[in-house]
Amino acid sequence: MKFLKLLPQKDYILIPDTIWDGFSAEPVRGLAVHISRGIITGLTPVAEFMGAGTDTGIDTEPGGFTGEVIPLPGITLMPGLIDCHVHFSMNSENLFQAIDDWANDPAGVNAKCRQYALAYLENGVLSVRDGSDRMNIGLRVRNAIMEGQYPGPVVTATGRAIYRKGCYGNFLGPGVASVEEALTQIDSFAGEGIDQLKVVVSGLVSFKEFGSIGAQQFTVTELSAIVNRAHSLGLRVMAHVSSAIAVETAVKAGVDSIEHGYFLETRQLKLMAQQKTAWIPTLAPLGNLAAGGIVPYDGADLSVISKSVAIQLARVREAHAMGVTIGVGTDAGANHVPHGSSYYDELHYYSVAGLDNYAILSMATRISAQILGRDNISGIIAPGSKPYLIGVSGNPMKSLEVLKKPALAVLPVSGLSPFTP
Ligand SMILES: [Zn+2]
Repeated sequence: MKFLKLLPQKDYILIPDTIWDGFSAEPVRGLAVHISRGIITGLTPVAEFMGAGTDTGIDTEPGGFTGEVIPLPGITLMPGLIDCHVHFSMNSENLFQAIDDWANDPAGVNAKCRQYALAYLENGVLSVRDGSDRMNIGLRVRNAIMEGQYPGPVVTATGRAIYRKGCYGNFLGPGVASVEEALTQIDSFAGEGIDQLKVVVSGLVSFKEFGSIGAQQFTVTELSAIVNRAHSLGLRVMAHVSSAIAVETAVKAGVDSIEHGYFLETRQLKLMAQQKTAWIPTLAPLGNLAAGGIVPYDGADLSVISKSVAIQLARVREAHAMGVTIGVGTDAGANHVPHGSSYYDELHYYSVAGLDNYAILSMATRISAQILGRDNISGIIAPGSKPYLIGVSGNPMKSLEVLKKPALAVLPVSGLSPFTP
């Protein structure tokens, strides 16, 4: 992977073989991307920049252009990939060890976060949303990258999550005993600078009993109060929720995205399509266990996991056909879901579900940017957007395999962020 850092005070013209802008049916040949002071200003035919009478091609000062012209032979340039659900605080191996490390090895945790941040870039994932932890590790990673302490993707942080004490979620936040307490917590999380709010609405998917989900934590009325407070503070709400009834509660309460959503049914998908509630199905955590034949702990049943994956894939296909907004999120940090490299696994499962490459690539870029509220800066190659771009060798519309090891990451470097991988 080569990193191309674009300086904020300079102008650039990038000339790849082809460009996929996040919209078009196929990558387009013969276009150049113009970037001025960290913003994409336009796409124009390359012919305009070919010096007449030269066969090598590039005129270094076309039409008085004084910036840098960068040919990218063999490269398809496309928007950077976006992961809507990761946990920097988790190590993809052992959650209990990770939680122990938070308290006992903060320097080690910090070093790992730094590695994970680089792994995202190396896998072409230039924007991620962190799904919270009770130590605010994800929020601190966002700040460290923003301050230029180390290179990494743009992080949308949820800080600490809201969950009901005694239910699932004690490693994600401090917990609440009442809605009043939740509202107070939301105010204080907002003060800590979170970008979005994470709420835990149900427990986990059982690996022992097919279709069984941990207890629902809030009623529609309670969750509506939580969502309304977050929205009044300008915060979108991502809801950890599985089971048909808990998903229905979350959608009715007005959350912005359903995370996981295992065992939701057609009725909830209809509601989600109507209300434009996004779905992040996080296929990799169970998919990787099933594909690898991994029994994650004593007593877990691999056939239950495999059946749960199959039903989730069928729902994804149904949701896509119904026009539900689907975003790509890996839940990286969960067991057997490594930061960065599992992104390709997640995309692969959408292929297995029957979605075509255009749908998958759109979800991985333009649509996930909209879900994260980052569509003003990323997810497309168009005037006004920022050049968070990747270059791949080959046509991703023909094969997603070319995304496995992107050749190039293009990143705008702000004055605050001396990017040095
Ligand atoms: Zn998660």
